[in-house]
Amino acid sequence: MTDFTLFQPRLASRMSGVQASEIRELLRVADAPGVISFGGGIPDPSLFPTADMAATVTEILADPAQGARALQYSVSEGEPELRQWVADRLTAQGVTCAPENVLITSGAQQGLDFLGRILIDRGDEVLTEWPTYLGALQAFGPNGPVYRPLEGHNAMGATTGPGRKAFAYVVPDFANPTGATMTRAARDRLLALAEAEDFIVVEDNPYGALRFEGEVLPSLLALDAGARGHVDASRVVHLGSFSKILSPGLRVGWMVAAKPLIKKLVLMKQASDLNAPRLNQMAALRLAQAGLDTRIARAVERYRGKRDAMLAALETAMPEGLRWNRPEGGMFLWLTLPEGMDAAALLPKAIEAGVAFVPGAAFYPNRDVRNCMRLSYSLPSEADIADGIQRLGRVLRG
Ligand code: PMP
Repeated sequence: MTDFTLFQPRLASRMSGVQASEIRELLRVADAPGVISFGGGIPDPSLFPTADMAATVTEILADPAQGARALQYSVSEGEPELRQWVADRLTAQGVTCAPENVLITSGAQQGLDFLGRILIDRGDEVLTEWPTYLGALQAFGPNGPVYRPLEGHNAMGATTGPGRKAFAYVVPDFANPTGATMTRAARDRLLALAEAEDFIVVEDNPYGALRFEGEVLPSLLALDAGARGHVDASRVVHLGSFSKILSPGLRVGWMVAAKPLIKKLVLMKQASDLNAPRLNQMAALRLAQAGLDTRIARAVERYRGKRDAMLAALETAMPEGLRWNRPEGGMFLWLTLPEGMDAAALLPKAIEAGVAFVPGAAFYPNRDVRNCMRLSYSLPSEADIADGIQRLGRVLRG
C-alpha cells in the first residue's frame, strides 16, 4: 500500500470526482487464464498488420531523409499527407473539407479530452446518449459538466435544462456500449435540435467502417456540412481513428471541424504532447494507402462471424425475460436483464464461473440503470464466445 496522505490534500478540485473504477479492478481478474472475457472492446490481434507494419517501418527508416523525418519532432497539426488522406476520405463520403479542417490526434480519445477542456465550463450541460461511452465521461468529467440525456436513439428531443449547453456527444454508428445505430431520422432530429438550441454536436465514429449489414447512413458531419456547403459552416465536430481498422497501439486518430475550432485544438495539442508520434503517422498513412479497404473487409467478416456466434449462443443459453439487440456492426452487444436485477452484483459470480462482462451502470452518467450489461465479441474466438455465453446463461439462471 502506498501512503497517499501527502498528496491527497494537494490535489486540484477538478480531481474530486475522478476515481479508479471497481469494475476495472474486477475486469483485471477477468484476464486470468480460464476466464472468457466479453469485457474490453479490444480488437482481434490476428487482424493487426504486423508483417506489413514491420516492412513499412523498415522502409521508412532505411531511407535517410524519411528516417530523419520520422524520428524528429513534427508540426502539432499532424503530417500534412495524413491530413490530406483524412480530408480525401471524408470528401469521398460527401463531406467537403480541406486538410486545414483536420487535426491528427493521439487516438480519438485525445480529441475527447481536448473538446472537454476547450468547450466545457463547470456546470455546463453535455447532452449524451443514455448510456454512453465511458471513456468520454472520463475525459469530460474533470471539467465539471452536468449530463443530460438525448431522449433515446430514436426520439431525440426534450433536452431543455437550465444550463449553458457545451455540446451533444454521440456515437451514431455501432455505439459503445450498446452497439446501436442512430436512424437517419434521429440524425436529422439531432441536427435540427442543435440548430434550434444552438449547440455543437460531437460525432465520435471509431466503428463506422465496421458495418456487417444494413444501409450505410450518412455521418452527422456529412449531413450538416452537406446542408451548409462546407465543414467550415458546420456545427459538427467529427472524430475518427485507426484504432479499430489498423491497430490501437499506433495511437493515431483525427478530428475534423471548422478551421477556427481546429486552430484552438492545435493549441491544446501543442500544450499536451506537441505532436502525435510521427513514425506512427507516416507508417499508418502508408498502410492506409495500400489495401485499407481489404483490411476493413477482413475485419468486417471476422467480427460479423463473432457477432453471429454470440447471437446464436444467446438464443440457446439465455433464460426467459432477457433482451438483447442485433448490432449491425462494431464490437458490442447490449443485454438487458429483468427489472430489479443488478448486473454488477452478478459479475463476481460470473468471473468465478469463468466469464466476464462490463455491468451497464458504468456507462450511465449517473449510474442509475443497473439491469444491463455490455458484451464485447471482438476478442474471443467463436468457440469461446459460444462457451462463454453458456457459462453466462448458467450464472443468470442462478
Ligand atoms: N470513442 C469510442 C466510442 C471508443 O469506443 C473508443 C475506444 N474504446 C475511443 C473513442 C477511443 O479510441 P482511440 O483508440 O482512437 O483513442
